[in-house]
Amino acid sequence: MQYVEAGIETAGVVIVGSGFGGLAAAKQLAKSGVDYVLISSTPEHLFQPLLYQVATGVLASEEIAPPIAGILRRHREADVRLGTVVDIDPDRAVVTYEHEGVRRRIRYGSLIAATGASQSYFGRDDFAEKTFSLKTIDDARRLRAQIERVFAEAAQADEPTRRRLLSFVVVGAGATGVEVAGQLKELAKRHYHQEVSVTLVEGAGEVLPPFGGGLSEYAKKSLTRIGVDVLLGTFVTDIEHGKVTVKGRDGVEHGIAAETVVWSAGVQAGGFAKILAEATGVATDRAGRLLINPDLTVGGYADIYAIGDMTSLNGYPGQSPVAMQEGRHAADIIRRKKQPGTPFTYWDKGSMAVISRFSAVAKLNERITFRGVIAWFMWLAVHLFYLVGFRNRFAAVASWLVAFIGTGRPGFAEVDTTGTNVRTSEIRAA
Ligand SMILES: Cc1cc2nc3c(=O)[nH]c(=O)nc-3n(C[C@H](O)[C@H](O)[C@H](O)COP(=O)(O)OP(=O)(O)OC[C@H]3O[C@@H](n4cnc5c(N)ncnc54)[C@H](O)[C@@H]3O)c2cc1C
Repeated sequence: MQYVEAGIETAGVVIVGSGFGGLAAAKQLAKSGVDYVLISSTPEHLFQPLLYQVATGVLASEEIAPPIAGILRRHREADVRLGTVVDIDPDRAVVTYEHEGVRRRIRYGSLIAATGASQSYFGRDDFAEKTFSLKTIDDARRLRAQIERVFAEAAQADEPTRRRLLSFVVVGAGATGVEVAGQLKELAKRHYHQEVSVTLVEGAGEVLPPFGGGLSEYAKKSLTRIGVDVLLGTFVTDIEHGKVTVKGRDGVEHGIAAETVVWSAGVQAGGFAKILAEATGVATDRAGRLLINPDLTVGGYADIYAIGDMTSLNGYPGQSPVAMQEGRHAADIIRRKKQPGTPFTYWDKGSMAVISRFSAVAKLNERITFRGVIAWFMWLAVHLFYLVGFRNRFAAVASWLVAFIGTGRPGFAEVDTTGTNVRTSEIRAA
């Protein structure tokens, strides 16, 4: 390990993370010409809500993961660095980041931490090796490679083998789980023309729990209509190759065949959230999220802001609008457009989730809700609006036309760089 000790660099503002929160903060600072260093462990700005479309071949990965340096190329204020922040000394206001074995240190005037969250396996970390997750662009590519493999092998196989290969279990019936389950059914029916079994397992008593009531009921009925087996009030107790064991509320366990298991249940903030909590002495919730102050600062440090999925404040959901609004709020205090100490309040513009082609739910508030085709087009419009870059929007529309009006999957044409079936071979070897 090489240490670059010769003089700690100095920066007015350091942003950690190139996700929704980090990018929103950067853009807001640039409005007042405030210089900043943005450090991220990944070179891209990832549009996570569309990861499932990369995994199922609707979109190519570049359409939802443009390089952050490219997005900010016109910002004279921006100094974008690739690296993982591995340490912080809050009393000296110094962060340490690492890239390719080299450590560098920067003294900041203000720090905005936006490092997100990763998947939670609720104490069963061994499940990580046995399932596919959808958090990073590599996760989506890995799942896509697995999907392509099982369908290709199934096309040549005898009936029992075909059934085994085309068995999917999706754990967690939040928006991602519902979207993946629905897309797998569509992919099988409209693109591969094969029968698949898709089981959606959810511990709560309804699908899309944050929507609730009639919308959750509509989502469940729609999934059932397209052939997804929905198991509610059910928990995964074990996963081994080819089988998921689940337990219902009656306490009875049973196994479900599953060549592919997609895990989308729960989040856990670790990594820099943990480092920051330990360094500042700030408490975290059970998911490791920092319990930040109402003005988004961390503990007694007025120069450190933490935002987005790595934090917990007022029960706000772990969603992109929260991260973006928090990023702008922190930047506004730093650029003196808001008084230091101004509490953050979230403007909830509503939530939406896709079930399958032409079927979605949208909840603007408790009284205004939409379902079906109209909600699907609303979802399309909103996601197009928030996708970064004109070229990506144009490419996404073209891909959606091919996949949703036609039956093609343009994303499958992308050359895979992750190594096909990594997870499956690991499971087989275990
Ligand atoms: C599959 C999926 C679907 C989703 N769908 C929706 C949806 O439909 N609607 C919605 O509103 N929200 C959705 N979300 C949630 C939404 O994506 C998050 O709320 C949002 O990304 C949070 O933004 P963030 O800036 O806090 O973190 P992120 O966007 O996750 O960004 C974290 C950044 O920090 C970087 N990083 C992490 N650790 C370090 C480190 N130590 N050093 C340097 N950099 C680091 C990462 O590389 C990344 O750039 C979805 C999430 C997932 C995973």
